[in-house]
Amino acid sequence: MTEMANEILLLTTGGTIDKLYFDALSEYRIGDSVVGRLLATARVAQPFRVVELMRKDSLELTDEDRAAIVQAVREAPNARIVITHGTDTMADTARAIGGIGAAENKTVVLVGALAPARFAESDAPFNLGMAVAAVQTAAPGVWIAMNGTIFPGDKVRKNRAANTFEAA
Ligand code: GLU
Repeated sequence: MTEMANEILLLTTGGTIDKLYFDALSEYRIGDSVVGRLLATARVAQPFRVVELMRKDSLELTDEDRAAIVQAVREAPNARIVITHGTDTMADTARAIGGIGAAENKTVVLVGALAPARFAESDAPFNLGMAVAAVQTAAPGVWIAMNGTIFPGDKVRKNRAANTFEAA
């Protein structure tokens, strides 16, 4: 495998994983992505590249935004792609990417966090670690790495009441 084929491409789209808390405003905003820093802290030895696509809560993603994510996956030369994404509509984006993964021999893993990475008790580093592992080991196709589980991207939903992902 060449260095390029080996490289993990991380596309960031926003979501809680990258949220910042503005105390004075009592609201969250999406800040610079923490993804590169988390991978550097973990001393990830795989070549990787982080590309910011957008900074949005996933409830605010439009059809055009989702089409841009699909296009970025299709056009990337990489065979290993991790997408950070808000959890509320992560399964919708996984379905939109759909067959591209398997058809183009790409392993695509979507991941997010239920608590911001900037919080001490966040699931972000664990989830991102799972996604980086899955993108190197899962078959071509689309996957979601959440709650300690690798779900097939077309057979998963978020259970909002329980705040967890489950098979669908
Ligand atoms: N509304 C948020 C989103 O989907 C939910 C929390 C999260 O990011 O996981 O972007």
